Amino acid sequence: MRHFDYVRETEPSAAALAASADGARFIAGGTNLLDLMKLQVETPETLVDISRLPLKDIEPQDDGGLRIGALVANSDLAAHPAVRRDYPVLSRALLAGASGQLRNKATTGGNLLQRTRCGYFYETSAACNKRQPGSGCDAMQGFNRIMAILGTSDHCIAAHPSDMAVAMRALDAEVETLDAQGGTRRIPLQAFHRQPGDTPHIETTLEPGELITGVILPPPPAGRHAYRKVRDRASYAFALVSVAAIVAVEDGRIACARLAFGGIGTVPWRSRAVEEALAGERPERAVFVKAADILLRDAVGHGDNDFKIDLARRTLVAVLEDTTGGTPA
Ligand code: SF4
Repeated sequence: MRHFDYVRETEPSAAALAASADGARFIAGGTNLLDLMKLQVETPETLVDISRLPLKDIEPQDDGGLRIGALVANSDLAAHPAVRRDYPVLSRALLAGASGQLRNKATTGGNLLQRTRCGYFYETSAACNKRQPGSGCDAMQGFNRIMAILGTSDHCIAAHPSDMAVAMRALDAEVETLDAQGGTRRIPLQAFHRQPGDTPHIETTLEPGELITGVILPPPPAGRHAYRKVRDRASYAFALVSVAAIVAVEDGRIACARLAFGGIGTVPWRSRAVEEALAGERPERAVFVKAADILLRDAVGHGDNDFKIDLARRTLVAVLEDTTGGTPA
């Protein structure tokens, strides 16, 4: 373990200021960062402990939405009555993630910032552009079974690991932040995570010291909610493919479909083209297959993860059949 400084802040503005210094990192639950520090993948000079900040409330909004404090534990968020009643896709996604112990410790803000589980990222003797920019990517020609098939680049093919963020992407969540100068902003989730491009080490659009203070959910959308996660074990495993779906059927046709995907993208993935292809159509297998083709038309496998293309297709079709009551034809 390398030497580092530790400060505990009790005011959000003081925390943002402290974390704007070179080499400083926030820590809350620590369920990802501490592992990375033990492996010396991350070597912060200062840890700014934000676990005591007053950001642990879940509050209804005037417009019917919900504000989730950044330090709400994943287990508390999954169990909250308003989340279970109005945003079941989010509750199910949270419960599909990690283990009970980790969900008790992991926070809403930290979940959005968790880093990839690419094995080469965690192995400091491997080439990894995300850990050491410009060093290469051993996953390209290596064992890449868990890697992404959408949004990849020549520099990185790592999949985003979060379940919670996939559901929030389907819900059009916004991330609320506070910067070191006291400014606040709301970042739509689709603009929060960055695809790797040629800078895979820059994973979000947050500025140095910018603190996540909460997540805003719009009023609950109409429709049936589902979160299906396909993985190697029944629990405590990251998604090979996951689908968050909110689908409304009216008069025998799909009125609205919101679909987001985990395990296949370098960021929590959503495709408006897929949703547009479903809107107004009858809930039939041929329609679902066409939507899956649209989702996967730009998918690229790297050998070990080629299977994800067909797995994603079959998972999406199955979820659409479940949420629409569509009959296989
Ligand atoms: Fe690193 Fe990304 Fe390549 Fe994995 S896929 S080794 S995280 S650059």
